[in-house]
Amino acid sequence: MTASRGIAVLGATGSIGRSTLDVIARHPERYRVEALSAHSRPGELAELCAAHGARLAVISDSGQAQTLRDALQSLNCPAEVAAGPEALLDLVAMETVDTVMAAIVGAAGLGPTLRAAELGKRVLLANKEAMVIAGPLFHRVVAQSGAEIIPVDSEHNALFQALPADFARRGLAASGVRRLILTASGGPFLDTDADALAGVTPEQACNHPNWDMGKKISVDSATLMNKGLEVIEARWLFDAAPDMIDVVIHPQSIVHSMVSYADGSVLAQMGLPDMRTPIAHALAWPERIDSGVASLDLPTIGTLDFHPPDLNRFPCLALAFDAMRAGGSAAATLNAANEIAVQAFLDGHIPFMAIPGLVEDTLEAAAWNHATSLEEIMRADAEARTRARAAVQGKDKVNV
Ligand code: NAD
Ligand code: MG
Repeated sequence: MTASRGIAVLGATGSIGRSTLDVIARHPERYRVEALSAHSRPGELAELCAAHGARLAVISDSGQAQTLRDALQSLNCPAEVAAGPEALLDLVAMETVDTVMAAIVGAAGLGPTLRAAELGKRVLLANKEAMVIAGPLFHRVVAQSGAEIIPVDSEHNALFQALPADFARRGLAASGVRRLILTASGGPFLDTDADALAGVTPEQACNHPNWDMGKKISVDSATLMNKGLEVIEARWLFDAAPDMIDVVIHPQSIVHSMVSYADGSVLAQMGLPDMRTPIAHALAWPERIDSGVASLDLPTIGTLDFHPPDLNRFPCLALAFDAMRAGGSAAATLNAANEIAVQAFLDGHIPFMAIPGLVEDTLEAAAWNHATSLEEIMRADAEARTRARAAVQGKDKVNV
């Protein structure tokens, strides 16, 4: 076994962050928690630092730094405190950190995740939005730094497990890969008819049948935008041509994704729907460690169903395919508009079915470009947010 690895968890207070700390705590001889970050909730961050022995606590909302210091002191935790989004860049650069769990939600995670890749760290990628908006940049950076990006998103981790070890060097086609098949549970509204979808509440949207997740990804799962983002994520993670990627609805969430090969073989990765499995896989790869997840008992589950997605009731999936094919800044625009729309829905400002319309209108209004630099991507992101916010407020300030 290798020497103990120093871990930083970005987004430690979230669903993925906490599952990561749960797995790490099972293997104190393998992993040291060096640094933890959160955007807010300083009390929770302090408790996690105390429980896991972190040496650095970063709160990206700088206004809460003093509350964090006080909370750490009351727990007798000696962790140092840093604050603000720039402190996340220093956190991933710590010499004692060799593995970074990227588990911030949304485009806010791009900066530190990209920096970790630039520094040649092992990046455990949960923050799909970072890859969606900046896939080509990650390619360039990884080629220079030699960073390892191990997918944590369950579908991509499944594909990673079902692909040959040297797929990145040889390419998918030369590895005999025909198609990447992403499974989707279909979310809480899989069987809800179109009329009823108009009136669903944030609480219903966040009540996922199989997975316990943060609010943003839960709404994305309900609109199927999550699967759309994952299609784009797969395109960049595996350097897959856009027309190689399929989506199939699989309500039980047992098969996490599949690789279809030229000889007719289809390799699937299966397991109970618990993110600790892909997290443990990514942490230990190429070894295997206990994740705390029970083994799969297929006779108990009995039946596995698969059917095609309904793009009429779930237009977000089609919009994401369109943005992927358009390339350039389209994915950044799609993602930014979606982040604004989801938050507006969670805050009660727009109905559920307004989410796809808002994303589509923002995509149509956006100035398309080839966006090869971080600055261009962030400009497309900012423009899309301005337009989408204006649309939420009902007055298009952009065009006056
Ligand atoms: P979450 O909402 O539970 O947690 C998000 C974390 O990010 C929190 O620690 C929060 O403090 C931090 N954060 C939020 N806004 C921030 C900002 N502006 N700057 C810095 N930090 C910020 O989210 P989650 O469900 O854990 O998801 C995290 C990421 O992992 C998302 O990109 C999601 O798509 C992806 N993911 C999650 C799951 C899951 O099961 N939860 C599965 C696959 C992929
Ligand atoms: Mg997923």
